[in-house]
Amino acid sequence: MTLRTAAKPKKCKSCRVEFMPARALQSVCGPKCATTLALKTKDKREAQAKSAERKATRAAREKIKTRGEHLLELQVAVNAYVRLRDAADPCISCDRPATWDGQWHASHYRSVGSNPGWRFNLFNIHRSCSICNAWKSGNLTEYRPRLIAKIGLERVEMLERESPVRKYDIEYLKRLKRIFREKARRIKKLQDRGLRSARDVQQTAGLPETLFPVHEEWLLPSFAETEDDSPSGF
Ligand SMILES: [Zn+2]
Ligand SMILES: [Zn+2]
Repeated sequence: MTLRTAAKPKKCKSCRVEFMPARALQSVCGPKCATTLALKTKDKREAQAKSAERKATRAAREKIKTRGEHLLELQVAVNAYVRLRDAADPCISCDRPATWDGQWHASHYRSVGSNPGWRFNLFNIHRSCSICNAWKSGNLTEYRPRLIAKIGLERVEMLERESPVRKYDIEYLKRLKRIFREKARRIKKLQDRGLRSARDVQQTAGLPETLFPVHEEWLLPSFAETEDDSPSGF
């Protein structure tokens, strides 16, 4: 059976050079390109299988994560965000400048252990040098006046009252983790491009609309009635 190929040139699927097909379904110019293409296809299939496997492993691991693990992962994400947010500020507990090249931590004003309801509250976490945070337990007597200067007495006093009882369920923790990773990624990108240093852009800048209501509701549990509820810079 001969197919009436009206001898139309084709582009070889492997080398992209035009050729005259001898058979109707011929997609490569010759045996050499046929082999190359077969190998390429095989590699692609293998890579796809591997990536699917990795994805499945990740999903399985994610499934068995406990609430505690999600809490820790969220804390890591929030802390990373805070360090970027405050990247141009001096230590919150001493005047070590932002240019200090030691280790920087995210320091909780009210400790996580005794105030679990404030553990992800952005007013409660600020970048501090490791000397204050790790060796002076936050250096709180020095932290307080600087915190008042930064966020105002009213907010500091709010933090000093009993922390709200918050029951974070896993879905909520996962959602916040996604939000904070995204926020950190965006700030970092802007900082890398020299477009912002730290607090000169409102925290909502560049955040997708859909993320914002969730974030705001979370950020300002007890500021709903105050006249100044704009978390500018946080
Ligand atoms: Zn070819
Ligand atoms: Zn310090």
